[in-house]
Amino acid sequence: MSALALDLGAQWILVDAGEGTQHQLLRFGLPTSRLAAVLITHLHGDHVLGLPGLLSTLALNGRVEPLTVIGPDGLGRLLSGFADVGVLNLPFPLELTELVDDRGDGASTELRPCPTVAGHRIVAVALRHRVPCHGFRVTAPERRGRFDAVAAERLGLPHGPERGRLAAGFEVTVGGRVIAPGDVVAPSRPGVSVAVFGDTTPCSAARALAHGCALVVHEATYADGMEAEAEMWRHSTARQTATVARDAGAGRLILTHFSSRYPVIDQLVHEAARCSRRATPPSRGPGSRPRAEPGRGPS
Ligand SMILES: [Zn+2]
Repeated sequence: MSALALDLGAQWILVDAGEGTQHQLLRFGLPTSRLAAVLITHLHGDHVLGLPGLLSTLALNGRVEPLTVIGPDGLGRLLSGFADVGVLNLPFPLELTELVDDRGDGASTELRPCPTVAGHRIVAVALRHRVPCHGFRVTAPERRGRFDAVAAERLGLPHGPERGRLAAGFEVTVGGRVIAPGDVVAPSRPGVSVAVFGDTTPCSAARALAHGCALVVHEATYADGMEAEAEMWRHSTARQTATVARDAGAGRLILTHFSSRYPVIDQLVHEAARCSRRATPPSRGPGSRPRAEPGRGPS
């Protein structure tokens, strides 16, 4: 069941909350007190049915800070339903953003700005699935440019607070000479971007979202030979996923969301690796897959 944590340092973001999310949080030691936002890709049960339980736990833990929640049209009604029948009684506000643009064809490459979370920019794009479904790109804040120690020596900058002031963006005067930050500090660098996808077939929107990302996390439901099923159920094969990531110039790819028809996923990993620019040895994540009953379809 889908649930992915993006650790931002002081806080973290949860993308999707399938059943079992709370078990995994305990397993990996992620404190719910540092949860900054929940992003829901779509309203299939394996992506959202863990959310009411998680919210209840936050309430039991005494949370009072607002929680940012971003998801598809209908997410608010789903949570309201749980509240109406008494399952949810939250002592903290949900700051909910619903994405209501979805045609479901994955043709629009418009990246929709969402609320910023812990200084990280978030955009969403509508994918191609059987129900409205989005992918999210999370971009870290700009990083300061590197300090050029060689240039500093050349300019006769002493070791001391002057260097700190320049690194912080202030001019300093040394020996009657004004030194600007740009003389010794490289331009700031864009923050790292990570794209996390909901369920989808390959589409223009997926490529736009993955473009230039350091890391892409994408579903890979099927293996080669299952392209017709992938199209029918609006999912991707591992090879299709790797092709999207490669064509978008993504740095690294993590495959998720495998059909339970594959008791082991080596075949999918190898098919994706063969497609990548640098066929590095595939590795399996910390959550190695248990054997599953074959044949159960994804949603
Ligand atoms: Zn789905």
